[in-house]
Amino acid sequence: MKRIAFIGLGNMGGPMAANLIKKGFELCVFDLSSEAMERLAQTGAHPAASAREAVAGCDAVVSMLPTGRHVDALYCGSEGVLTALTAGTLVIDCSTIDTATARRVASEAAALGLPMLDAPVSGGTGGATAGTLTFIVGGEREALERARPLFEAMGSNIFHAGGHGAGQMAKICNNMLLGILMAGTAEALALGVKNGLDPGVLSEIMARSSGRNWALELYNPWPAVMPGVPASRGYQGGFMSALMLKDLGLAEEAANLCEANIPMGRQATALYRAHVDDGQGPLDFSSIARRYGAP
Ligand code: NAD
Repeated sequence: MKRIAFIGLGNMGGPMAANLIKKGFELCVFDLSSEAMERLAQTGAHPAASAREAVAGCDAVVSMLPTGRHVDALYCGSEGVLTALTAGTLVIDCSTIDTATARRVASEAAALGLPMLDAPVSGGTGGATAGTLTFIVGGEREALERARPLFEAMGSNIFHAGGHGAGQMAKICNNMLLGILMAGTAEALALGVKNGLDPGVLSEIMARSSGRNWALELYNPWPAVMPGVPASRGYQGGFMSALMLKDLGLAEEAANLCEANIPMGRQATALYRAHVDDGQGPLDFSSIARRYGAP
């Protein structure tokens, strides 16, 4: 497997595609943003004029798009790229989307003889850049084995969650927990600061106590506590609040379908919905700390 088409070169897709190039894959790329295309061209990718042009003659397609609607539009219908692929071409969608769309696109692909995997990732933009992402994969194990060299070029952990859509379901559970942890971490820090504590000292204490968690230790939401994270650069870049709200919505949708009880998930959704409604959608999701008074 040598020639890869990569569609969607945003905060995540850009560095993921760059890592494939570094590992010796030949990349043909497409994004609606010309700036994103230019950035990738500078790392050695071939920019294409359309998604259908990008996938011509490729061995595998990788997509990293915002939502299920974008994934459906990319792959399906008469203008979709599935009909432009030779049977046997591997199709890998790394976006975080609803399980119903993931299963439907995989079944359209299967009807054309195209093995497809849902392979959402965890690890943030830091993990995408460092090539240390976790891939959470749904689909046939044989297709996963074919995709393994690509996953290894972009990440360090690969999990087979089950059949089509299982990767998305596991990722949705993870991100519901992440939304809850980020809001809870911001809440605890704000309470300490309002009572005269230094947010850096409080973070250090909690990181070595029973309140420790990923949001606190690796993605601290309070400005200037941790260098290199979005909170220390005005919440720019990273994982948009609008995308976190999308993922919490996916968790609610899944919970409604199976009548699962998710009061904490619903609370996190309400917080992120208010944040996005206030125009904070483009800021990194750790900016939820501003709702608690972070500067
Ligand atoms: P992003 O908005 O930065 O990037 C999405 C890119 O897709 C943009 O460059 C956009 O121009 C492009 N795009 C949209 N429609 C297109 C189309 N039809 N054809 C070609 N390009 C198109 O988003 P992101 O942060 O990179 O997230 C992408 C996915 O990864 C989302 O599903 C998100 O939930 C998930 N995710 C993000 C993070 C994170 O930390 N940012 C972490 C894990 C998973």
